[in-house]
Amino acid sequence: MNNILDYTLEDLERYFTDIDEKKYVASQLFDWIYKRNIYDFSKMTNLSNNLRDKLSKDFTINLPITKKILKSKGTTKYLFELSDGNLIESVIMEHGYGISACISTQIGCNMGCSFCQSGKTKKIRNLQVSELVAQIMFIESNLGKKISSVVLMGIGEPFDNYENVMKFVYIINDKNGLNIGARRITISTAGIPKFIKKYALEDIKANLAISLHAPNDTLRSNLMNINKAFSLKEVMSAINFYLEKTHRRVCIQYIMLDNINDSKKCAIELAELLSGLNIYVNLIAYNRTSNSIFKPSSEKRIECFINILKSKGIDTCVRVKFGHDINASCGQLKANFESK
Ligand code: SF4
Repeated sequence: MNNILDYTLEDLERYFTDIDEKKYVASQLFDWIYKRNIYDFSKMTNLSNNLRDKLSKDFTINLPITKKILKSKGTTKYLFELSDGNLIESVIMEHGYGISACISTQIGCNMGCSFCQSGKTKKIRNLQVSELVAQIMFIESNLGKKISSVVLMGIGEPFDNYENVMKFVYIINDKNGLNIGARRITISTAGIPKFIKKYALEDIKANLAISLHAPNDTLRSNLMNINKAFSLKEVMSAINFYLEKTHRRVCIQYIMLDNINDSKKCAIELAELLSGLNIYVNLIAYNRTSNSIFKPSSEKRIECFINILKSKGIDTCVRVKFGHDINASCGQLKANFESK
């Protein structure tokens, strides 16, 4: 049976039209599920009895099982078990201005970033739309609060699961769905040029973040396997295409690794690469894992890096570290749980 959480509003409108029902029933159904959190079709009292029976026969509403919830100051990490026994994780961060959720998009990841725990476990499968949506639904009901922003920066490469991720974004953005503003949704990619270009042509206006992590191909190929398939030149050309088509600012993510990519030379090279583009750089403090060969950059080196970028006109900020004590880097909670 199909999980109804896999369906966008448009999919459901098509379903209802096909069974000779009015299109607007799709909005009523969305309202029950996403606004009132009712997951039992028989309780959807503004739908006819016949329709409620039909929906019960055609669809299920499956939510994942929670295996573990870990809390640290301002951060909570959720470990979910899916219907096939696979585990995924999501993290929420509470800020003064709201709650942001970091969502996984795949089980494992094939991008092979050498500093990432998830990159060590190959992709097992893509997450279904319902498994993406359910992460937000569960967290909201667990907190009893609305999630104000969503970043797709958990385990997996969102653009390697393009169709499902797009449907997910449309559902959480839909006014009848979870109603999270497009400007409050960020898709973070390691940089697959053809999907950056495809995304540039989508109607949805969610933010785009590109993980660059190095200013040249030699260093980037050492840190990110994906660079061996798509060079920095190809990624930059796709970013330019996106900027031309959307006129929306792109976030360039850069993880700060001690004595690897945080030198003055790297900062100068990065500034030259990004010069004149409508971007800003987000420097990410590295969360060291127990078996990692990498170390986080010192505050002094980060400050020096920022100063060089800023002096060359590149808008730059540093992402605050969260949740060290609860393994809040992608893949760490899952890896620890499985090793036990
Ligand atoms: S950093 Fe992201 S893209 Fe790279 S291996 Fe980890 S999960 Fe995949």
